[in-house]
Amino acid sequence: MVMGELAEKTQVVVIGGGPGGYVAAIRAAQLGKDVILIEKENKLGGMCLHHGCIPSKALIHASNFFYSIRQAGIVGIKTGKVSIDTKKLQSWKEGIITHLADNLSKLCTLNKVERLQGEAEFGDSHTLRVGGEVVSFEYAIIATGSRLNELPALPHDGKFILSAKDVLALQSIPKELLVVGGGYIGLELGTVFAKMGSKVVVVELQEQLLPGYEPDIVAVVQEQMEKMGIIVLTNASVGKMVKGKIIVKQNGKTQSFTPSCVLVAVGSTPNTKILGLENTKVKMDEKGYIIVNEKMQTDEPTIFAIGDCTGAPMLAHKASRQGKVAAEVIAGLPSAFDNLACPAVIFTDPEIATVGLSEKEARQQYDVRTGKFPFKNSARAMTLNEEDGFVKIIADAKTEQILGVTIVGINASELISEACLAIEMGAFLEDLADTIHQHPTLSESLMEAAEAVRGTAIHLFQGKNGP
Ligand code: NAD
Repeated sequence: MVMGELAEKTQVVVIGGGPGGYVAAIRAAQLGKDVILIEKENKLGGMCLHHGCIPSKALIHASNFFYSIRQAGIVGIKTGKVSIDTKKLQSWKEGIITHLADNLSKLCTLNKVERLQGEAEFGDSHTLRVGGEVVSFEYAIIATGSRLNELPALPHDGKFILSAKDVLALQSIPKELLVVGGGYIGLELGTVFAKMGSKVVVVELQEQLLPGYEPDIVAVVQEQMEKMGIIVLTNASVGKMVKGKIIVKQNGKTQSFTPSCVLVAVGSTPNTKILGLENTKVKMDEKGYIIVNEKMQTDEPTIFAIGDCTGAPMLAHKASRQGKVAAEVIAGLPSAFDNLACPAVIFTDPEIATVGLSEKEARQQYDVRTGKFPFKNSARAMTLNEEDGFVKIIADAKTEQILGVTIVGINASELISEACLAIEMGAFLEDLADTIHQHPTLSESLMEAAEAVRGTAIHLFQGKNGP
């Protein structure tokens, strides 16, 4: 430390105010620690709240609403001409974000979490510099998240080549939207704009959308996307933009597009380069992710790391859980990030939600049986006019323990919670199959899928398998 610099002392310093960092800070404070939370922006919530999960879910809701009104004739409702006031939509969305961010500030104040705005850089294993200030700490938790990747041929320019952040703030509906990347963001936002009237083309480098997801899941969503008029190009790559024209290569053929704008959504990279980590013993892997153990400890005993900066899956709820674990370990509790179930949800139409092992992963480790219950056999799904998709349960063939659950269909994002609890509690097929599920609901499909693994589903004829 340079003579004359002010040093602030704390027991715990948290770097990053997203869903990993603010949760870690509040839990550490709940456990009686002095906490400073450092965030470079002047508001809490991180990417998730300001430029990711929350704004996208607001737009998804609005686009679903708009789309449903236009489809209302199917259930006998006559509507007039409907249109979207994008300025009002944006201000409604911003209102939600502001409210949630203000609430986070209040929660920090109420929990006596001190806040410091600026970019933190490690001096050593016990000090950080934030602007002109030096903070000395007993423990630090790094929760710096990740940033969206760019394509060298199509760098984000905020006007024509857009990031998810830019697209979420659009003040008008683009006539034609070219989406590069058929992953989480590409499909969620591509669907939003297709429903609001844009002509959408999705270009995906790999041979299927959502690489890594099982083809039976992707097929349901892709079929819906194509029904909405979205053009899906897989095994395809984009070249440079020349005079507003973008060339897409697919299977040796080329076609050109002149969209109103382009969304480039090709993954994200951890924010770990700027931290002065070289002044500590913290280690990173070859991709720049910080290496941690299940207590979220790095190779430097005083420094912990959580969330996106520690690797995939890059999901807010994983970061929050890891934040609680880090704070509890610092406070001397026997916590560990040893969760069996970390769900993932993609808010497409219909939604996809998965937890535990996929069928492919399970078959590599176990003798497996699966059961699938289609929503077209669910009375509740019919009454909602939402019959696409299924619930699939993957179980150990010998013990009947539930290894994984996949849901593709309406409200999959909510329905998956029961499956998370089941896997976390080590549940067996009979636990789901013999639990009374309220009728008529979509959740009955989980019970029926568990029965389907055993060949005993009631609303699905599976032959004479018997219990
Ligand atoms: P992603 O990794 O989900 O998808 C990126 C896609 O781009 C992949 O399918 C990849 O094959 C493709 N791709 C890569 N290079 C390409 C190229 N040159 N041309 C065409 N396609 C190319 O990443 P994302 O959609 O950008 O999302 C970023 C992160 O945000 C994800 O890691 C995800 O965890 C998170 N996220 C989560 C949610 C959610 O939980 N619902 C929603 C949005 C984003």
